[in-house]
Amino acid sequence: EGRTERIKKNIAAYPDFPKPGIVFRDIFSILMDPSLSADLMALLEERIATICPDADIIVGLDSRGFLFGMPLALKLKKPFAPIRKKGKLPGVLKRVTYSLEYGSDVFEAQSDSIKPGQKVVIVDDLLATGGTMEAACKLVSDMGGEVQLCLVCIELSGLKGRDKVPNPCHSIVQY
Ligand code: 5GP
Repeated sequence: EGRTERIKKNIAAYPDFPKPGIVFRDIFSILMDPSLSADLMALLEERIATICPDADIIVGLDSRGFLFGMPLALKLKKPFAPIRKKGKLPGVLKRVTYSLEYGSDVFEAQSDSIKPGQKVVIVDDLLATGGTMEAACKLVSDMGGEVQLCLVCIELSGLKGRDKVPNPCHSIVQY
């Protein structure tokens, strides 16, 4: 049995969380098992090594994107920077406002974290409608960064989130 199949089979699904009609895919079920965690990290690392080995920086999205982005940056010897929900980061910030099902939210990055011309990999746990990744791409490009790869562990393919994302998207498992 392949690594990908084993990971896919072991991601726990919670029906009607956080609200009725949503099936929540819980990436923490993989982190509970060191062998599955190691396989997942290796698959993510291999994607970056294949698609954009010369990326300058790994950017993780608040908050589960940090769990994968930071170890990848460490392994690949690249800098790591966070994109966070509003009010969490200190200092001079760049921000983007994006729409949610009800209302809107704000993503922020520290102004000096991504430099003009840098090649960027954005990492998150899951791609659903694509709104989150779309906003992250906009923020990075507003800062002058060039998004080479949007990398997620899980993609909910039926929602066609990747159609919204302006840069190349890759996922390890799809539902
Ligand atoms: P989108 O903006 O693509 O609709 O939603 C993606 C964002 O919401 C990601 O940051 C992800 O962490 C979170 N998210 C949405 N649905 C799920 C889910 O089923 N499981 C997990 N782990 N995160 C989800």
